[in-house]
Amino acid sequence: MSELLDRSIGDIAALLARGECSSVDLVQGLLHRIDSRDGDLSAYVSVDRDDALGQAQRADKARSEGDHRDLLGIPIAVKDILNVTGQPCTCASRILDGYVAPYDATAIARLRDAGLLFVGRTNMDEFAMGSSTENSTVGVTRNPWNTACVPGGSSGGSAAAVAAGEAVAALGTDTGGSIRQPAAFCGCVGLKPSYGRVSRYGLTAYASSLDQIGPLTHCVDDAARILQVIAGADPLDCTCLDVVVPDYRAALGGDLSGIRLGLPREYFVQGIDADVEQAVRGAIQQCEALGAEIVEVSLPHTEYAVSTYYIIATAEASANLARFDGVRYGLRAPGGKDPIDMYGKTRAAGFGDEVKRRILLGTYVLSSGYHDAYYVTAQKVRTLIRRDFEKVFESCDALLTPVAPTAAYRLGSVSDDPLSMYLGDIFTATANLAGICAVAVPCGFTSDKLPVGLQIVGGPYQEDRILQIAHAYEQSTEWHTMKPER
Ligand code: GLN
Repeated sequence: MSELLDRSIGDIAALLARGECSSVDLVQGLLHRIDSRDGDLSAYVSVDRDDALGQAQRADKARSEGDHRDLLGIPIAVKDILNVTGQPCTCASRILDGYVAPYDATAIARLRDAGLLFVGRTNMDEFAMGSSTENSTVGVTRNPWNTACVPGGSSGGSAAAVAAGEAVAALGTDTGGSIRQPAAFCGCVGLKPSYGRVSRYGLTAYASSLDQIGPLTHCVDDAARILQVIAGADPLDCTCLDVVVPDYRAALGGDLSGIRLGLPREYFVQGIDADVEQAVRGAIQQCEALGAEIVEVSLPHTEYAVSTYYIIATAEASANLARFDGVRYGLRAPGGKDPIDMYGKTRAAGFGDEVKRRILLGTYVLSSGYHDAYYVTAQKVRTLIRRDFEKVFESCDALLTPVAPTAAYRLGSVSDDPLSMYLGDIFTATANLAGICAVAVPCGFTSDKLPVGLQIVGGPYQEDRILQIAHAYEQSTEWHTMKPER
């Protein structure tokens, strides 16, 4: 059974369809794996065993009665920031203590309609603010390849669960890199769709103009399958656009001949870890061997990306997090003399340090007197960054870059230094600022045996193209088949 959990969604779907395993077998195997492994890793925040088994029994029953949906009975893990009816949704924050979601996020509703099951909630940095999952109030998640190291973040629980075979696939969210970077740190595939590709309804907002939901999976084909289900316009999210959703799996297969891939000069600079650079360079050569033409390009405003991102993201966060005030749900601190006092006490007790830091930063950059100097300037630079990409996509089909400057680092080694943590977002936050799509695929290991990720960046709504490139690369290597010791 344990091997089954490392198989692709496609393989598992075929076994289910042939009756060679049941959804109950699958969920029992998963619960067993979680029991034996999650004590060390803490990838999950909560798992409702009875509910998971109940969902599996219903799926098996439906199948026996002639329901042939492809993905019926396949479990998926969900980052603890997405609302699933009847399950807690804490965003790894004390302020949402006791909150149980009364509704499904649109992405969840679509997966449910496709027959998937929701087994548990994965750990994350509080409100998705962070790059290491160390900002969780629930406790840190560890990297399955080396438990002394972080899994990346903020979707670190989702990435660790997939890598450790504690989940067949998982959903994460990506505001500045939070799907791709943990995918790279844990050796799985992570896709950030273009802004507007997937509905954000039911995703607890961090920075609304940057947030996107996407899959973390064992392989590219699985990412295509999940995206297929969750993509597409939604009347409940007016930023989710009515752009045709292509058949993502139909795009997979074939080599890279006729494809032009750009290497942004600014992404191959001093400061990248030598092992990371070597693995990424190896992947670039491999893409060339598969027929791609490789050209050097320039994204000249890259150096401003981190500061632009941290102004816009914190400004939006300071507004979005104003709703957590202890009035209608979640934590309410005792002893408030009046409503203002109650809000203050609740927010002081409910938010962690990093969240408070960002609310303060965001309030500052929006305050009168500083608004033009910081927020408006950041918006202008954001436009310049978007134009950089528009320009290179006139002559390239996609870009190849590292996902992050380093592989996973040791727990505690960066967490005291927020600025150096923020700098780790340099290669990922740009795609969010530009609203474009990007995917991380495993491309090797460091000398310490930690996974390295290759990032493939595409233009708006070019998910089919980057998935095709990622798939061609993946299928020509063995990296995605390597799993950490169980
Ligand atoms: N590390 C970035 C941040 O802390 C990105 C987080 C994310 O994508 N949610 O904001």
